[in-house]
Amino acid sequence: ATPTALMVGTGRGAQLGILIKGPEVLESTRRVDTVVLDKTGTVTTGRMTLTGVVPAPGVDATELLRLAGALEHASEHPIARAVAAGAAARAGSLPVPEAFENLPGLGVRGLVEGREVLVGRERLLADRSVALPAALAEARAAAEAAGATAVLVAWDGAARGVLTVADAVKETSAEAVSRLRALGLTPVLLTGDNRAVAETVAREVGIDEVIAEVMPEDKAAVVERLQAEGRTVAMVGDGVNDAAALARADLGLAMGTGADAAIEAGDLTLVRGDLRVAADAIRLSRRTLSTIK
Ligand code: ADP
Ligand code: MG
Repeated sequence: ATPTALMVGTGRGAQLGILIKGPEVLESTRRVDTVVLDKTGTVTTGRMTLTGVVPAPGVDATELLRLAGALEHASEHPIARAVAAGAAARAGSLPVPEAFENLPGLGVRGLVEGREVLVGRERLLADRSVALPAALAEARAAAEAAGATAVLVAWDGAARGVLTVADAVKETSAEAVSRLRALGLTPVLLTGDNRAVAETVAREVGIDEVIAEVMPEDKAAVVERLQAEGRTVAMVGDGVNDAAALARADLGLAMGTGADAAIEAGDLTLVRGDLRVAADAIRLSRRTLSTIK
């Protein structure tokens, strides 16, 4: 590839809203056949809201919201922000936790008004031998079937309720996926979220291959596994938890609307966070390279 042709490519990229780290980046896109898409914040807006509150039998809904909201208030996770905002709106002022610990990919735990509180996904509770009563298991399944994320709340060793948070699929995501397919690329949805939620989102945007319930530190290993299968992988992500996978991928595309760590790890930045531009980026680089062959 001649430097001049590659410079033309990067200039055109800027016009399309693509920031390219260096001209050599375009070279690696040539053989890309698989595009791994992070779910939250990439395919979906990442702006979650609290949509449901299901207390366990005998638990007061306001109490459930106060204790869960108090802990989530200390976390920056999009789910946590939705829970804290929804809890404050419905239950009023939230207590300040006496202790707090963030457990990446699982949830949060801490001490609120002398109670040991857990807020997060089922594994967080299961790892501590907290069982889910039938009424809550049903609420969780119903939420997930509808594409919402179920957040489980427990304190003092028992499950106390399910909060549901929902995040809308971006209007442009289905079109973005069909543009990627039109380029002959296979889209794969990758998320730490639950399989049922992931499959609902995948169906909505037209993705067949879903890799769900992946811990943040394992996202890069998933990319590596696909590469070991002989695939050349582009990864699109927005979160701190996507940074290692973006770096590991043959081509890392960061959402410009995402975390600094993701932008630093990516080869390209989609400035406006528009997923359709991912297809433009791959098409542009193919064209740039074919003019110099
Ligand atoms: P994603 O890959 O979708 O960006 P994460 O890896 O950050 O998600 O988290 C994986 C899952 O762990 C979430 O879908 C959620 O169920 C749970 N989780 C993580 N952090 C929190 C939190 N602060 N509150 C509630 N649930 C959480
Ligand atoms: Mg994300």
